[in-house]
Amino acid sequence: MNFNPFGALDAATLSHETVLRTEAGDDEDSEQRHRQALELKVANFGTDSVNTAFSYNALGEALLRNDKLAEAEEVLIKAIVIREVKGPAFDAAVSRENLACVCEAQGRWAQAKDMRTRNRENMVCSHYKCPGTTFLMDELKKCSLCKATYYCSIKCQVTDWKARHKRFCTPTEV
Ligand SMILES: [Zn+2]
Ligand SMILES: [Zn+2]
Repeated sequence: MNFNPFGALDAATLSHETVLRTEAGDDEDSEQRHRQALELKVANFGTDSVNTAFSYNALGEALLRNDKLAEAEEVLIKAIVIREVKGPAFDAAVSRENLACVCEAQGRWAQAKDMRTRNRENMVCSHYKCPGTTFLMDELKKCSLCKATYYCSIKCQVTDWKARHKRFCTPTEV
């Protein structure tokens, strides 16, 4: 396959525009733009590059926001497979967290927990907007009801509860 730097540039521009659109809250449009960006990434970098993994993850996030959970799971698994081999560890943890959110939305609590704790030395906070870093599992507090979400602070837990988690959380015996 020929490497086309202009195609790569288009993909980068498209991703940036997508971020701006997402901030504006236009979810359907954002999903379409992530699909286009992914096509360009696959054409330029192939199906197993970290650049392509970025777009699999971004499309997965858009699909999750749009409640297209089965397709979100499909593309997030692709992102995880690449990122767990090629890194960085933080990106792999972000994609595992996103897939755990898909499981949560489907009531698959054991799988949500398994996905988050699959690498206990590299986890992210379950609050989506937590400033990015990885944590050891022991550094995080888990939700006392579902026992499947993990937070770096009470502040992140409260914010995520209001913004997202309270819609899904159910007490479990796990
Ligand atoms: Zn919970
Ligand atoms: Zn946090």
